[in-house]
Amino acid sequence: MLDSPASSAIQPMIDPHGRAVTYLRVSVTDRCDFRCVYCMSEHMTFLPKKELLTLEELDRLCSAFVTRGVRKLRITGGEPLVRKNIMWLFKALGRHLDTGALEELTLTTNASQLARYAADLKACGVERINVSLDTLDANKFKAITRWGELEQVTSGLDAADKAGLKVKINAVALKGVNEHEIEDLVRFAHGRGYDLTLIETMPLGDIDGDRTEQFLPLSIVRARLLDKFTLTDIPYKTGGPARYVEIKETGGRLGFITPMTHNFCESCNRVRLTCTGTLYMCLGQEDAADLRGPLRASTDNDKLMTAIDEAIGRKPKGHDFIIDRRTKRPAVGRHMSVTGG
Ligand code: SAM
Ligand code: SF4
Repeated sequence: MLDSPASSAIQPMIDPHGRAVTYLRVSVTDRCDFRCVYCMSEHMTFLPKKELLTLEELDRLCSAFVTRGVRKLRITGGEPLVRKNIMWLFKALGRHLDTGALEELTLTTNASQLARYAADLKACGVERINVSLDTLDANKFKAITRWGELEQVTSGLDAADKAGLKVKINAVALKGVNEHEIEDLVRFAHGRGYDLTLIETMPLGDIDGDRTEQFLPLSIVRARLLDKFTLTDIPYKTGGPARYVEIKETGGRLGFITPMTHNFCESCNRVRLTCTGTLYMCLGQEDAADLRGPLRASTDNDKLMTAIDEAIGRKPKGHDFIIDRRTKRPAVGRHMSVTGG
């Protein structure tokens, strides 16, 4: 049965490299109300709505993964909170928290709709959320997101605090844009009791600009922060690829995600599902498996489970991201908003 993973024996998904897949990221829409410069071009062509899995189908797919040992589900996008009736999906998936089959239901959001949804998310069993915020300067915020307003995010964060959601801020380090603001972001996040994670830009999808101009290695950011702060490496883990330090002066945690300068693939426990039911076994590879066909082919999950097993059997050992400096083309053609962050 779909809905009773706790009562049936979990059949774990182990990839050919011996890694158990326990973490599923699900992009519920490729659309967004922002147009961040490193993520999208200003004029994006989005999928026709009829291509998307329905919320019921997304629930069925996620639930199938829970029966296969997924313990952590992250809902992402595009902007997940712009998908119509999205709270239905959170409520539906929350039942797996109640049975104990799922350990964590969470989301990554630009916070534009958070003021409206924070309390509902908490009521669905969401405890922690990731909020993307690259700058505290309202003009820069507008320049980075093209369509967003900083005030939407700050009121979203206030609502999250009020609802009792734990927040982690994700900031993409951008050369010449926010590189001298990282200290302020650290103080802001830690001052509000949030962790902060810095991310290097990844070469995913065509954007209007030149990616080699945006790329800022976090090794440089880290070295600069040492002038201001005392950083101590700590073994803290959230199930993701970030490596954390504690900052003595603020008492808070700072994470570094360095896909370009550091290989974090050995411990990869995740796969990514798009809103059309395509499963990507690696963020940095093109190989993917269609799960929508087998999902729609029958009401029982036999075909789907076979497709999942075949896909996990192809999970690659690691990614090979490069920004090709000659062609300026991304290493991977799809946008981050397809598979989510
Ligand atoms: N819209 C939501 C948000 O912004 O949080 C969720 C989806 S967004 C694609 C997820 C994360 O990916 C965000 O933190 C964003 O900053 C990051 N991101 C997008 N494009 C990226 C890129 N090319 N390299 C690195 N991070 C990227
Ligand atoms: Fe939208 Fe998130 Fe991409 Fe920004 S990073 S354009 S908020 S999907």
